[in-house]
Formats: sequence, C-alpha cells, structure tokens
Amino acid sequence: MKLFYPVLGAAALMVAACAQDGTSSARPSISVTPPTEEILPAPVPTKFNSIKTSRPVLALTFDDGPHPELTPKLLDILRQQGVRATFFVLGSNVAKYPEIARRIVAEGHEIANHSYSHPALTKLGAARMNDEVGKTCDIIEQATGRRPLSIRPPYGALNASVEHALLQNYGLNVVLWSVDPLDWKRPGSAEVARRLVAGAQPGAILLAHDIHPGTVEAIPEVIAQLKSQGYTFATVGQLRALQDVVVPSTSIAKARASVSRATYLSPSHGGTARK
Ligand SMILES: [Zn+2]
Repeated sequence: MKLFYPVLGAAALMVAACAQDGTSSARPSISVTPPTEEILPAPVPTKFNSIKTSRPVLALTFDDGPHPELTPKLLDILRQQGVRATFFVLGSNVAKYPEIARRIVAEGHEIANHSYSHPALTKLGAARMNDEVGKTCDIIEQATGRRPLSIRPPYGALNASVEHALLQNYGLNVVLWSVDPLDWKRPGSAEVARRLVAGAQPGAILLAHDIHPGTVEAIPEVIAQLKSQGYTFATVGQLRALQDVVVPSTSIAKARASVSRATYLSPSHGGTARK
C-alpha cells in the first residue's frame, strides 16, 4: 500500500498539469502499464453562447453592419478605449462599404459572417444557403483578406442540419450570445448600457447592433462600467482560446482506476493482485 498513494498522486498531478497547460488534446502520460480504457479529450464544441472561464474577460459583439456612419463612430470609441470586439457583418453591407470592413480588421477586431441579406437560415435550401453564407465568406475575404471563422445565424435561427452544414461546408463555428439587451427596440442608450452591464460575467458574449444610434452611444458607458468591475475585452476567437480546460471527472476517475489496477498488478510491487 505504501507506493499506492505517491503513484496515484503523481498521476493526478499530471492530469492537473495538462489542464493548466491548456493542452486539451494531450492525455495524461502515466508511466505505468497503459490504461485499459482510452481517455479521450472532450469533443470540441462548435456552437457557443458563452465561454467557460474563470477570468474576468468577455466579448462585445456587433451585428448587422457595417453602417456607413455608426460603425466608424463605434470604431473610434473602441480604438480610444483600447477595446477589441467582434463584428458579425452582412455580406450586402460589406459589398457597399468594403473600406469599413477593412478598417474593422486593420484595427484588430474580428470580422465574422451574419449572412448576406439576413434570412432565417433554417428556411433555406442548399443553393440559397450558399448565396447567403458562402457568398458572404467570399465578400468578406475579398474586402479584408480575412476569411471568417464564425457565423451568427440571423435571429439565432438554427437546427442540427444547418449547424452541420455551416461547419462542414464553410468551416464556420456558430456564435450565439449570452446577453441580449434588445437594443433593436431602441429603448434608449442608458437602458441599453444598463442591460449589457447587468448581464456581464466571465466568458459572456454580449450582443448589440452597430446600426442603432442609441447602441453606439451606450458603448462608452458599458466599457467604463465593465472596466471598473475589472473586466477586459476579447474578440470571440480570443475568448475561445481563454476557455478553461476541464478534464471531465469521469476521465480522472478512469485514470485513477487504471493507475490503481496497474500498481496492484505490477511485478515490482509483489505481483499479487489484491482485491
Ligand atoms: Zn442580425
């Protein structure tokens, strides 16, 4: 029994080290007899409402632009505040204002797909889907040199086959949101700010629209209040990289069970299995 706890402890430390290093695909390297069951990494999610993180970081996201006046105004605010955001743009607007799309990327923000003309993707056949999603990827890439990695389906309308098609055919992850201030109803900038700040938590994805004047007016107050609460801001892509790596407790239990079996059966420990 003497060696049991040190070996188990070492295995647990290795599991913990993998978690801390963020190497989610790495398996615990246990130097005794290989485990009888594979310990596989958790499947990588391709749809997000928020990110699990213990760090005080969140993502501001803006849909439906670029808008010829409001988006540049918002970009000025973000630059002044040193804040990076994610813009889910419409292909039809990027086609009209490619220079604003270029500025979004040039100033360090993430640009992402929000379809060409804002239909519910769940109601489209394959050909229309390509016009809305594939065409918008191409327009964004032509304007900015950057191909989007994420899409926010208009209205958040999604089903399993659309989600599958977005990933398989266009390589797009789905990014939804965890805070919706309903700013499109134009409740006034103070109320938009209050709702966004009230929903903030580590890993949150805040939804807003840079086509409404009150929303853009609310952003300086949102940033000031969240900064005073200790938050920093990331693009959606950056936020995903900050996700806490969680080793499922069942995997840890399996690792411990394997180590414990191996320790009991190892010839160097007497070679006698005990029950
Ligand atoms: Zn939208």
